[in-house]
Amino acid sequence: MEWIDTHCHLDEDAFNQDCADVVQRAIDSGIVAMIAIGITLDSCRRVIELADRYPQVYATVGLHPNYVSAAGAGDWDEIVELSKSPKVVGLGETGLDKYWDHSPLELQAEYFDRHIELSSQLGLPFVVHSRNSDAEVVEQLRRQAARSPLNGVIHAFCGTAETATACLELGMHLSFGGMVTFKKNEAQRKVAATVPPDRLLIETDAPYLAPTPFRGKRNEPTHVRLTASCLAEIRGVTKEEIAAVTTANARRLFRLPVSN
Ligand SMILES: [Zn+2]
Repeated sequence: MEWIDTHCHLDEDAFNQDCADVVQRAIDSGIVAMIAIGITLDSCRRVIELADRYPQVYATVGLHPNYVSAAGAGDWDEIVELSKSPKVVGLGETGLDKYWDHSPLELQAEYFDRHIELSSQLGLPFVVHSRNSDAEVVEQLRRQAARSPLNGVIHAFCGTAETATACLELGMHLSFGGMVTFKKNEAQRKVAATVPPDRLLIETDAPYLAPTPFRGKRNEPTHVRLTASCLAEIRGVTKEEIAAVTTANARRLFRLPVSN
């Protein structure tokens, strides 16, 4: 079986000591590609470096909504430049976050628009972070979809069935991570069970949100298989089927070479 972790933060300090081992453990367990997500200009440079170092690692570049206030005046232009690097396969993560009060919502929304517009210019998919902001995210996606078709994914999806339906109607993919395995998240599992197979993705968000039974520990890409097992169970399909479907979707959305 081949798996793809569509969202991880391999450049974070948690992996400073043993990043090569973490990547190797993932490869040894069937993870054929890992997408390392940029959140600040520095982080974007680091994930590109990692992607250049490891054939199975790809990168996205963008400014996370929590960091748009801290961004320098020229940061966005540099990110646009970096988006042309050969192993950059997407933009983001972008979106809205009303949980942390790090950046004014209007500024978050302005950068969210910039990512979506760059996505349609370049043909690269965008990766959405939505925290306590599902209604606003859907509204902004709707506005953008009226201008140009959307090509993206809601990462670590944990919204309601209504939000899922709205995002799917707008053409978005939904990616599920470790949270779907947590005991109390029965409602999330119900939603995950009904996502059309061609829009389903899996991720770790490592080093965060490790799936059961590693909850609270450092997460890493190899654990994406545990989330996948949970999805197989709730959808009543085999792990092989989940692997085949999610890997094909990730390759198509992020236009990964078939060799991965
Ligand atoms: Zn993330």
